[in-house]
Amino acid sequence: MKVTRIAYSARLNPGKYAALVEQARRLGRVRSEVWQRYGSILAVGSGLRDRQVRDRWLADGIHALFGVLANAWKETVRDAMADIGANMEAAKVEVRRAISRRTNDPAERKRMFTALQADQWASDPFLARQMRKHWKRGRNRTHDQIVVRADKYNTAVDGRGRLWLAIPGLEPRKMVRIPLSTTVAPTGTLRLILRSGRVEVHYQIDAAQMRSSQRPCGDRRLGVDKGYTEALTDSDGQPHGAGLGVLLSSESDRLKERNRRRAKLRSIANNAALRGDHAKAHRIKVNNLGTVKRDRQAARHRARVRTEIFTAVHEVVDEAGTVIAEDLTKRFTGRKKLPKNINRRLAAWTKGVTAEALKSVSERRGSALVPVNAAYTSQTCHRCGRFGRRSGDRFRCTCCGVVWQADVNAAINILHRAGDPDIALHTPHHKVKQILQDRTDRHRTRLPVQDSSPATAGRRANYPNGSATSNE
Ligand SMILES: [Zn+2]
Repeated sequence: MKVTRIAYSARLNPGKYAALVEQARRLGRVRSEVWQRYGSILAVGSGLRDRQVRDRWLADGIHALFGVLANAWKETVRDAMADIGANMEAAKVEVRRAISRRTNDPAERKRMFTALQADQWASDPFLARQMRKHWKRGRNRTHDQIVVRADKYNTAVDGRGRLWLAIPGLEPRKMVRIPLSTTVAPTGTLRLILRSGRVEVHYQIDAAQMRSSQRPCGDRRLGVDKGYTEALTDSDGQPHGAGLGVLLSSESDRLKERNRRRAKLRSIANNAALRGDHAKAHRIKVNNLGTVKRDRQAARHRARVRTEIFTAVHEVVDEAGTVIAEDLTKRFTGRKKLPKNINRRLAAWTKGVTAEALKSVSERRGSALVPVNAAYTSQTCHRCGRFGRRSGDRFRCTCCGVVWQADVNAAINILHRAGDPDIALHTPHHKVKQILQDRTDRHRTRLPVQDSSPATAGRRANYPNGSATSNE
């Protein structure tokens, strides 16, 4: 398993930066061309690979239009084809759900899953229809990146101990040397992202080399509920990542205040421009409405939140060999935009980071991550299964008359979902509600459990619904 590391350029001279920007702009046109030609569902269905695309371009002479070196456009084609592939994988997640809904027959399910996996969905009418339905035609939005293959760059340390990265420029045999702010040389394929006058060098390292990957996992089973105040609460009632709430709310306040100030400045600049004072309008735009500081603050905040969440997940895995969690990947498959409201935006993004952290840490440390259907886990009582009331961080069960800490109650419900015989990962929301209601109704009217035998009576009593309401 790989994790991404980022190195940053240090005091890069503006001429070099401009040359890199020009190269990235030209490579952006390569990406757009790839998306244009091969980003449709038909092209994807034909199973075209990046090597074939390269051969075609060489034969047709398309590559000559871009004014970049051969290795640069070839790597870019490969990268853009991989993006298109990722886009297709996102559609497949939805199609897998559709398959689960369509049939209960294990053989038929397996046949369809396999066809989907092997990219042979085009010949199956149901799969082809589903792929068309969930496929979102994308286009290239990337014009600030340069991908450099491992054998095309080199690094060197100068007399003052500073690390330099040399990558190919637009002319053959002319390298662009970039000073880095780190002493650890990047390795493997590099992705250079040009942002606000600075070069970010993204590269991947083997996660097994990281110190945190050597930490053994625990041996318990824990359910976790993601929160806003804490990153996670486990089914023992233990909070993890308790600093998250403060981080998010202070960032939200800061953004609101900053946006207010910027709107005001923008209107002053606009008024000045209307009056004909273009010098003043320009000054405000350049000095007060720039993006460099804004973007760096945002990046710092993102890094802090990630650290908080990853630390929380590591704490859970210290205890647990099996982590049971809501299937957080669910709403992150499409190309949906994040909401405009700042709080919701932060919450949505945080959820994505939590999903990533759970997956990454589990894989690296060898614990099992069990995704479960979390429908109604925050609205039902873990003791009696009945629907209760949530107000703030408290959950009140009207039946038991007890008040639970809402996140703890949810985490315990999530833990139980892993062994639930009726509620599967993709059981639709309304069915889950029906199942939960049937359980408590039967309980109330004391219907006898039909097939109870002494051996199973204890377990059955917890789920006293018959097969009539079981999920499909
Ligand atoms: Zn209760």
